[in-house]
Amino acid sequence: MTCDSTTSLEAQETSTPLSMPESYRAHSVTECADEMQATRSTYGALTDKSWQKRIDSLDSCRCRAWFVRNIETGDLRVAAKSCKLRWCPLCSKKRQWFLIQQFKPWAESVSKLKFLTLTLKHSDAPLKKQVLDLYRFFLNFRKLKYLHDNVFGGVWFFQIKKSKATGQWHPHLHCLLDSNFMAQDKLSQLWCRTTLGSTIIDIRSVSDSGKIAEYVGRYAARPSCLIDLDPADRLDLITALHGRRLVGTWGTAKELPLTMQKPDDANDWKYIGGWSTVCGMLNYDDNANAIFNAWRKGEPLDPGITMDHIENAISDYTPYIPKEPPENRQLYFKFKA
Ligand SMILES: [Zn+2]
Repeated sequence: MTCDSTTSLEAQETSTPLSMPESYRAHSVTECADEMQATRSTYGALTDKSWQKRIDSLDSCRCRAWFVRNIETGDLRVAAKSCKLRWCPLCSKKRQWFLIQQFKPWAESVSKLKFLTLTLKHSDAPLKKQVLDLYRFFLNFRKLKYLHDNVFGGVWFFQIKKSKATGQWHPHLHCLLDSNFMAQDKLSQLWCRTTLGSTIIDIRSVSDSGKIAEYVGRYAARPSCLIDLDPADRLDLITALHGRRLVGTWGTAKELPLTMQKPDDANDWKYIGGWSTVCGMLNYDDNANAIFNAWRKGEPLDPGITMDHIENAISDYTPYIPKEPPENRQLYFKFKA
């Protein structure tokens, strides 16, 4: 590249106005637009009135957002009101991040980590019954003496797929185990006896604890991709899993938190401006530009740079004072079905 062309490119870049979506939701959803669309249409098809509140929550997830600055470090984050619905692609992504942070240290502390998969024989029974059976069998399986004597703790999570060939659901459970060596044949026999006929299990040693913790966190937060299913199956899945736990821990993993806790530094994060104010004034206001660029580059922001001069000037503007910690450290992230 010649010097001239570099100069020309730089001039072009700096003269191009920055453009950001007016809402943080629109910005966030770009990476999962299809899954969000599949989720929204499925919730929309749930006609029972009790779902309306959830639909409203999903529609408003991350619409209200604001920039916060850490008074100690100057770091910036975006905080947002979120729906916390199990199937919301935005919230489940955040939950993945959270679960990985919890599972990783535990997995790395276990000397002989195993990964166990328990499946049910294929069935045409209603999905709700299959899920109920799977959970009941799993509970009974864990109580068996062989398991009791050899397993010290674990993390379990639910996953489901639908076979395109047979049209049957394949619900299954995965477990990350802190255990002694257990023979696959023996486990298969015991699982068969417990489930009255299902024999397919898989157990293997884990060599990369960090990677498997990431896998578990990713799938524990979302048991299936709705976009992969047809509309009727999406409905069937959401209603069959309604109110049911999809991840759990026991034994040496029992203390791992599965819901977000208030971070120690929650009070250090202070509101400096709404997302829409900052992004709307990006090309017209120095503070908006400084806030946005610091956030985008992951750089600290000097104190005193806020959007107060704009937001206070709007007589009916009521800044949304954050009652939650920043986006990637939300409080009490308890999932609703
Ligand atoms: Zn959400």
